[in-house]
Amino acid sequence: MALPRLLFLSLGGTITMVPTDSASGGIAPKLGAAELVASVPALAQTASIEARSPFKLPSPSLTIANLIEVARTINESFAAGFDGAVVIQGTDTIEESAFILDLLVPGDKPVVITGAMRGADAPGADGPANLLAAARVGASADARALGALAVLNYDIHAARFVQKSHTALPSAFLSPLVGALGVVAEGRPRFYARIARNPCLPIDAGPPGPIALVKVPMGDDGRQLKSLPDLGFVGAVIEAMGAGHVHADVAPILAELAAKIPVVLASRSMTGPVFEATYGYPGGEIDLINRGLIPSGYLSGLKARLLLGLALRAGSDRARIREAFRPYQ
Ligand code: ASP
Repeated sequence: MALPRLLFLSLGGTITMVPTDSASGGIAPKLGAAELVASVPALAQTASIEARSPFKLPSPSLTIANLIEVARTINESFAAGFDGAVVIQGTDTIEESAFILDLLVPGDKPVVITGAMRGADAPGADGPANLLAAARVGASADARALGALAVLNYDIHAARFVQKSHTALPSAFLSPLVGALGVVAEGRPRFYARIARNPCLPIDAGPPGPIALVKVPMGDDGRQLKSLPDLGFVGAVIEAMGAGHVHADVAPILAELAAKIPVVLASRSMTGPVFEATYGYPGGEIDLINRGLIPSGYLSGLKARLLLGLALRAGSDRARIREAFRPYQ
């Protein structure tokens, strides 16, 4: 039987990094997708792979525009008959890239994103195992219709839930709200939970506008919020306290901001939904929603920022932005 056809796209990241000759003495991206694939012989028994390297960047230097380009390439490859895609990149922004691909690649074919916490030359490098696990998920019929998946350390995470939760360990990736959807064990992906896909957004839309992400600390008086429209931000996500709360004096500032640009209310807590109907004090979530803020549901501030930006890019008005967030409540 013919092997599934997978497109491997490498964007860079630690998985591609080796020591450089530069003065810094650190590691930097060097390897391309073809070298990564060649370094894991078992991949040849898993899939028929086409390897491309559109970027060789550390993932903090990736942009939303870069990921829109990646989503476009994947959509084109699926139309041309590929059965799945594996995206390789740095782990610092995997949770964001995965969610962009989730929103911009429609259909049932698996899109799997992976990386590594240890450099390609490091003892115990996790890159090869992650690449093989990602390919096995990408080639699996069981991975269809789940949207973009992040596969690291043998865990299979849904794009909308996954978060980088440690700076160093190969087990850095968690889905704190629901856990992983499954694992790769004995070389076979095993899914223990399934999720329904949420609506995608159009890929052919205007350029992404700047969306601010503001965390609210104790005693903050909201002065930076006032400057956001003048700085050119076209939307904002507020990581408020707990279930969606700010100091009472900041509430009118947020109301003023929400009259100018769409403002989404997320939480600075690691996980859990933003509330809508519990706290009645000034600056509580009922007050902020009544003042025009849109609750992010269970989406983290990082992911809410992407959904807001991509919805605005597609020309959505406030009612449609609210609709875009509804599946995540
Ligand atoms: N700083 C690296 C990056 O995101 C970390 C990694 O790949 O694990 O490119």
